[in-house]
Amino acid sequence: MIDFHCHLDLYPDPQAVVRDCASKGIYVLSVTTTPSAWKGTSRVADGAPRIRTALGLHPELVHERAGELALFDELLPRTKYVGEVGLDGSPALRQYWPEQQRVFEHVLRSCSRAGGRVLSVHSRRAAPAVLDALAKHPDAGTPVLHWFSSASRELERAIAMGCWFSAGPGMLQSQRGREILSRLPRDHTLTETDGPFVRIGTDAAVPSDVTAVEAGLAHIWSMPLPEVRERLLTTLRMLTQSALGPEH
Ligand code: MN
Repeated sequence: MIDFHCHLDLYPDPQAVVRDCASKGIYVLSVTTTPSAWKGTSRVADGAPRIRTALGLHPELVHERAGELALFDELLPRTKYVGEVGLDGSPALRQYWPEQQRVFEHVLRSCSRAGGRVLSVHSRRAAPAVLDALAKHPDAGTPVLHWFSSASRELERAIAMGCWFSAGPGMLQSQRGREILSRLPRDHTLTETDGPFVRIGTDAAVPSDVTAVEAGLAHIWSMPLPEVRERLLTTLRMLTQSALGPEH
């Protein structure tokens, strides 16, 4: 199983989630929302070989935490993974749009200078601007668009740009989400939960809940579940090898 976008540090007991992932052999991209959270969150995954901790600055927090960009640059050499970063065009955040753009540009420039990173990218109501920024910084690395939910024109553009995608439980809950899932390129699609923000029933989603997404993909792809899981593991291998080289 693969949860390529999970906020491990935001669970009440992150260690318990890490232990559960280890016992089930789940690969996790542990994303952070601020640079100052990265060190502590990395430590939670010490001794967990299937967990990678990404350095992030979430677009919803940019207006409070832009001052941590210097820390972002300082920590960037220590990880091959960046996220959660991106842009959010929701009405409540519109007043911070110029600052969001400035910070995302900075992040992409830093990643380019560092030789490229795997990026878990947030694009809610902001896909055209996110794709513009990624197109402007082709050396920033390998973007994985998390919970992509934009119109088909943007989806086509993202696919043409060679973006990767991480599909989560939220996308199974609407007709539109399922329509997007059906159009994602199978060899560029991974699973995620976005836990603990996403809820499954009354509980916060945990990485093992990607089984729901695997089942959804099995249905949409008309593929047996074991084959879907095999496909996803191959995709993860392809992503890390093409982005980071054979040793990762
Ligand atoms: Mn998230």
